[in-house]
Amino acid sequence: MRIFVAFGTRPEIIKLGPVCRALRHAGAHVDVFWSGQHTDLADGLMDLFGIDLSHGGTGVVQETSLAGKFALITQQMQSVLGSRQHDWVVVQGDTTTAAAGALTAFLNGVPLAHVEAGLRTGTLDSPFPEEFNRRLVTIASTLHFAPTARSRDNLLREGVSRDRVAVVGNTAVDALLHARSRIAVGYEPIDPEIANLPRDRKLVLATLHRRENIGKPLEDILGALRELANDGDKLILLPVHPNPDIRAQVVRALGRQPNVRLLKPLQYTDFVFLLSRSWTIVTDSGGVQEEAPSFGLPILIARESTERPEVVEAGFGKLVGSDRHAIVTEVRRLTNSDAPQLLPARNPFGDGEASRRIVERIFNASQVQHAAE
Ligand code: UDP
Repeated sequence: MRIFVAFGTRPEIIKLGPVCRALRHAGAHVDVFWSGQHTDLADGLMDLFGIDLSHGGTGVVQETSLAGKFALITQQMQSVLGSRQHDWVVVQGDTTTAAAGALTAFLNGVPLAHVEAGLRTGTLDSPFPEEFNRRLVTIASTLHFAPTARSRDNLLREGVSRDRVAVVGNTAVDALLHARSRIAVGYEPIDPEIANLPRDRKLVLATLHRRENIGKPLEDILGALRELANDGDKLILLPVHPNPDIRAQVVRALGRQPNVRLLKPLQYTDFVFLLSRSWTIVTDSGGVQEEAPSFGLPILIARESTERPEVVEAGFGKLVGSDRHAIVTEVRRLTNSDAPQLLPARNPFGDGEASRRIVERIFNASQVQHAAE
């Protein structure tokens, strides 16, 4: 079986890395297509998951508009997908690369499998691409791998047939457990700033990258972090996303602030190490919402809504939007003790076996298809 796996951003490598490993383990030939949306965030991930990112597209980072990126990625995928016989295309999530992969698979008549299917915010909020991309991928998919029952139900409500949807868990948990096994004993962090964390401070992690927050919302969130840094008992750690609009705002607001460390984007194992040491996280990241429950870590979601409400329902996450007062109050509440207020670890997004289930289902579907021919 020959499988075309398309990805282009850091979270996609993290979430498709375990799927590629499981596919290879099952004997499939995997053609990795790397579109290079996040070239500068891929450090260390190739080694961690044994994937080769040297095949794929070029020039996508130079394209400034998302429509331009979409066009370029689609064209470059076509030159690979149109010239070889693939049994499946696999894409993940809601990125421009996933949407381009879906269109290219559809137009070439190759069945598409969508990993992390069925997430919805419920609003198509132009010009933000995620919800649009998710729905586009759904329309083109033959198999939908929903991480939770809720995401399955979203798909069923939209008329996707039940026999094409499988609830498998989120492969983010597979990746996290893999990385956590690497940091279990005697881990030496790669980033020297992480290797030398002060022991007498309460660590508050922050990650902010979402386009919908750029401008006033981000200004308010950063204002809250500045206020918290002035408390003196906390150290705010913020790996700064390379998006130039985000970076500029973060550096302007927190560049000279005591008790704040602005870090380069961390390699995944360092980031997981930091999750295991933090008291709480202020984040607009999707992946971090899926990872925190494995550490029992309470998180504050700096968004107005989340397509991962399971994290809120399970008691790990609270939606705080960009409300400065709410962020300050909640972080202070979570750090007003002598030790981190961790919850019993229980991840609503999966058990680390999602990739195995996905691969089994793809192989079974192919057998049924061949038997019918
Ligand atoms: N992450 C990382 N280094 C960092 C920050 C995040 O490896 O400095 C990982 C994190 O563990 C998670 C993923 O990157 O798995 C989240 O990426 P991001 O927030 O950029 O995207 P999203 O998940 O919102 O799509």
